[in-house]
Amino acid sequence: MTKRLYYDSSEIHEFDSVVEHVVPSSPEQARPSVILRETAFYPTSGGQVHDTGWLTLDSGERVRVTEVADAEDGRVVHYLEAPPRLPVAGAAVHGSIDAERRRDHMQQHTGQHVLSAAFVELYQMPTVSFHMGEDYCSIDLATASLSSAQIVAAEKRANEIVYENRPVRIRYVSRAETEKLGLRKLPPAERDELRLIEVADFDLSACGGTHVEASGQIGSILLRKTEKVRQGTRVEFVCGDRAVRMARRDYSALSEAAALFSTQLWDVPGQIRKSADESRLLRKQKDDALDQLAELMASAALWDHPETNGRRIIVRAFSDRDITFAKLFAQKVTRVGTPAVALVASALDPPGLVFAQTPGGSADVGALLKRVLSAVGGRGGGSRDFAQGGVPAGSKINVEQLLREAAGTIEA
Ligand SMILES: [Zn+2]
Repeated sequence: MTKRLYYDSSEIHEFDSVVEHVVPSSPEQARPSVILRETAFYPTSGGQVHDTGWLTLDSGERVRVTEVADAEDGRVVHYLEAPPRLPVAGAAVHGSIDAERRRDHMQQHTGQHVLSAAFVELYQMPTVSFHMGEDYCSIDLATASLSSAQIVAAEKRANEIVYENRPVRIRYVSRAETEKLGLRKLPPAERDELRLIEVADFDLSACGGTHVEASGQIGSILLRKTEKVRQGTRVEFVCGDRAVRMARRDYSALSEAAALFSTQLWDVPGQIRKSADESRLLRKQKDDALDQLAELMASAALWDHPETNGRRIIVRAFSDRDITFAKLFAQKVTRVGTPAVALVASALDPPGLVFAQTPGGSADVGALLKRVLSAVGGRGGGSRDFAQGGVPAGSKINVEQLLREAAGTIEA
């Protein structure tokens, strides 16, 4: 088993070690990897993601460590960015951990302990899983619901623990002893000696991760989105520097929105509501105006066209109106009382056709539309009294010509 230096201190960022085993890259394993006698690199486990960093070889050459993982036999595998020359077994190496990345993980992970304990203390809601992502972290709480008041209260309590700057200690105890201690989180059953992380007088749980030395180093804990998941409720959160960066990003987005509305940040929701109301009203006014326009145009068209064989046939291709307006116009033409047939189109690309007749008329506009469209590769259909369809975009079909031809077949 690899000796894990991070077990005793998360502040070991530089260490000397010896290469025990080297696996060169192969078709099965794209990146070469090494196992060291001891390491301060943290492998992905328990929800916390791995460290990255460098190994400096005897020759002075620096090799990038891109990923660190636990092997099943208890050894820690360091995956390397393919170096020109691999170290050999028995060689001395110097390890350096990306300290900024490690600090971020310590802040998130210790913040999670405090937050999980706060949810237990206030609402007896246990944490069933923890996830650390690139941008934010989340815990899943075993609860079907979580109110915004509870979120605010848990966030407040967790930050109180941060401000009190309580020591965070590492303790090793036997499994038997833990029964008496009342741990928030028990470890997998197979281990005899347990590593406990204690946030003084607040939380005690078994954990193999890296943590800060005092709760003040968490910086701050900010709760964000919550959502229902299969096992309960997921709570997203960010700690320390991530909380500051996230707040900065939110502020920039909100400032930009406020500038667009020429208003203060806190007035943005009100402005959005006002603007949505205005757009709804304008849409309604536009719809009403189009309805009136279609009605007037339909009356004028009927007025202009003499009756033949007891009905009026109105043919109209709109070059500047969409299919919705064409449909409205066809409805107005055929619903005013005087028997009529409307053969209407929108010539915008893609062109659309609407055929209608006063209900109960002698034509079958559904069949007519199908016939006209199938001749030009279009599709559509409907009933005897109303049908609609279209031709493919970019087909350069003269829709007015198409309508004239259709009119010709029912005039005859
Ligand atoms: Zn932990």
